[in-house]
Amino acid sequence: MNAEVMAMGMNNELFKEADPMFADNARAYYEYARENDISLTHTLIHPQVNREKAQHEQKDANMALHLVEKKSDGIIVDGVRLLATQGGITDEILVFPSTVKPAGELDDPYSLAFVVPNNTEGLSFISRESFDQNKSTYDHPLSSRFEEGDAIVHFDNVFVPWEKVFVCGNSSICNRTFKETNAVVHMSHQVVAKNVIKTEFLLGTVLNIMDSIGIDGFQHVKDKGTEIMLTLETMKSHLYRSEQNATLDRSGTMTPDFEALNAARNYYPRVYPRLVEILRILGASGLMGIPSEADFQSPEIGMIVNRALQSKNLQGYERVQLFRLAWDMTLSAFGSRQMHYEYYFFGDPIKMGMAYFDQYDKEPYKQYVQDFLQQTTAVKPNFS
Ligand SMILES: Cc1cc2nc3c(=O)[nH]c(=O)nc-3n(C[C@H](O)[C@H](O)[C@H](O)COP(=O)(O)OP(=O)(O)OC[C@H]3O[C@@H](n4cnc5c(N)ncnc54)[C@H](O)[C@@H]3O)c2cc1C
Repeated sequence: MNAEVMAMGMNNELFKEADPMFADNARAYYEYARENDISLTHTLIHPQVNREKAQHEQKDANMALHLVEKKSDGIIVDGVRLLATQGGITDEILVFPSTVKPAGELDDPYSLAFVVPNNTEGLSFISRESFDQNKSTYDHPLSSRFEEGDAIVHFDNVFVPWEKVFVCGNSSICNRTFKETNAVVHMSHQVVAKNVIKTEFLLGTVLNIMDSIGIDGFQHVKDKGTEIMLTLETMKSHLYRSEQNATLDRSGTMTPDFEALNAARNYYPRVYPRLVEILRILGASGLMGIPSEADFQSPEIGMIVNRALQSKNLQGYERVQLFRLAWDMTLSAFGSRQMHYEYYFFGDPIKMGMAYFDQYDKEPYKQYVQDFLQQTTAVKPNFS
């Protein structure tokens, strides 16, 4: 969110197309958020009703968030948006300009970008049940610390003052915002940095599991470790290239090379489920034989489980701590959501992949092969 708000604030000319006020608003909000350390959630997508149809064609066309009225001091918006991660626990919510399908003026009322404080009258967050069960960091090493929450957001005729509006009923501007503000570049840079750290953590967990139960000498186990290492090194290389080739954009903002980041952000959702699968395969029954902290402290069974769950190099208590971590990365409610998150949070990887193919500069490679074919010494037969 910090990258998005910064990019929209710095490269704000796009918003001027509708009114210079919107560009000023984007810049002012960036400075406000920066100076006041505002934490933000955001909603990007329309509710999942019928993906074959545009918003104005939906059977309940007033359900998705839309513009109700323009007033002298602001706008009134009403309806539902998805899916606000950390929704209930941030300061403000940014309604992000998402692309509309099919792009067209009839969907203009649904094409909005604005920000409001989370306690704005008429705004409510409908949160999913928490995956943090209030257990210790031994029992739930990740979910006890990093549960984020996801929420459906309902706007009940919410008033948004003009100074907090960036796009108002303009599908053309919405569809171009990510790209033309460079928001997608700066967000991708953070995403790929996250991919590096996340893969390092996953690799470390897998390697510790290999050591602990003595499986690191088996060929297929090594090969699975290699798969994770290759992913890690690939992500690091993409990140490095993006920074090496960074240039100043038209606003004077140092901007990483998007080619490298775009490839990495498209690749990781495809490979992350495999990394999780590797952890599951190597952890095997150890991911289910995970007594709780209370079991280890029990006078009746503590000694038994400590002995029963010993490993090559660890006491039962230590081994279970490691395997509980692996379980919380893969099979717990928290771990399952992580996999789902990595697959979807930046958008549908299938649609992103199609867009990637379409925008890729394919001509040089086609020409490369055509040139080679032209170099033949064969005489073309005459079929006429
Ligand atoms: C854990 C998690 C956290 C998230 N956090 C946030 C958040 O904080 N803020 C936010 O705004 N969003 C968030 N999202 C939502 C995320 O942006 C979406 O999941 C993503 O954009 C895909 O949209 P969708 O879920 O509506 O899937 P859909 O678009 O409904 O897709 C469902 C399926 O149908 C297929 N499909 C749909 N339309 C087409 C088409 N036109 N062509 C081909 N195939 C199609 C897709 O390939 C997919 O398999 C989060 C999602 C998850 C899972």
